[in-house]
Amino acid sequence: MKKLKIFALMLPFVCAANSSFALEERTIYSPTGESVFKIRFFDVGDGAFMSNWPEPLQSTWNLDRLQKEKITNAVSYWAELIKPDPDTLLAVINVGTFEDVNAAGTSDPLTKPDSFFSITQLQAALLGVGDEWRTFDSHAQFVMGKMNFDTVPYIPSQQPRHDGPADLVGTAFHELAHGLGVLNFVWEAKGPATPHFESFLGSLGQGLRDDNGNPARPGQAILCSLCNNPYDPDAFDARKDQAYFYGENVSEVLGDAMPGVPVRMLAYKFTGESRLDNNYMSHFELKNSMMSHQFYRNYTTFMEAELAVLQDFGYDIDRRNFFGSSVYGNDQYLENNNGYFKRNREGTAYLPGQYNTATLGLGLHVYGDRNTIVQQADLLSEGAGGPASGWTGRPITLLFLKARVCMPMV
Ligand SMILES: [Zn+2]
Repeated sequence: MKKLKIFALMLPFVCAANSSFALEERTIYSPTGESVFKIRFFDVGDGAFMSNWPEPLQSTWNLDRLQKEKITNAVSYWAELIKPDPDTLLAVINVGTFEDVNAAGTSDPLTKPDSFFSITQLQAALLGVGDEWRTFDSHAQFVMGKMNFDTVPYIPSQQPRHDGPADLVGTAFHELAHGLGVLNFVWEAKGPATPHFESFLGSLGQGLRDDNGNPARPGQAILCSLCNNPYDPDAFDARKDQAYFYGENVSEVLGDAMPGVPVRMLAYKFTGESRLDNNYMSHFELKNSMMSHQFYRNYTTFMEAELAVLQDFGYDIDRRNFFGSSVYGNDQYLENNNGYFKRNREGTAYLPGQYNTATLGLGLHVYGDRNTIVQQADLLSEGAGGPASGWTGRPITLLFLKARVCMPMV
């Protein structure tokens, strides 16, 4: 394979410094016993672990034992969701800390000078493209700040178990998703609020469509209501803030309910006031979603449409192991004949009558509002945090059960 050239974007490329300190490392296994990730925890004094401007990040405080355990839980759940290429080696993730009341995650993009498409180093490792491209000797990095993290031991659950503090497992899960490719390569070409796509698009950028359904193009200017770019008919037009990610798997999940998974140029403060979100469409803005940039997020894992985006990125995910079916539309009467059971070894079909064991599997997820659903098929789950059905639809979703719906006791 032709060697790819590495570019680090937005942040300066800094060569990895060899640390002479013994890092705390943990190997993360899939449910079937394959090693998938290696986490390297950077304590104070362990050296640089992640790019930043003007200096790379070095940890300023030490994660405690419970916090490291919960980060391990989050990464383990990714090892359950994504089946890496069988020939792949461990994907290495650096984890450290900073003083900000925030968290961040990334993985540097790989590209060739003549290519308009890029994947991240973590994607390359998991997809079997190659694992030799690393930053600070890792394929992805994330940093945990001084957020008001919950302090209770982790128990798998579909919703954060405490109202108020930030869910630590969810935060770590979210940050690693950026490294998996949920990020856009956008730079401010002419000063603040002048976003343009880089000369190449990542996996997310490749599926982006603007307000008018037109695909994103490398180098393109981006228009939005709080952007400073002048009007240009060739620009990516997100002035109505209705851009979205489109892909085949996403389309299969969403059906006619929406054209794709929404992304946003704007974010909203607690007061409801809007501001420019300079993460530039690097989140999925489904209502209160785990991967959104919304003030209130109450999912602890990806919804089916979000998993479908990762399938469209090329990851091997047996989506039906985690969702029996989902309803994204509103105001419908549905007789749902989709069941939820254990998957066969190949991950190609259900084994009717046998209980699904996915940690956070969901037999039926109702996202839309005001639906009436008659559930005709069994939903059988015994995963640690996998209720058979759940809905977020408002104001009222009616669910009539005409089949067995079996939930674990949690
Ligand atoms: Zn994020």
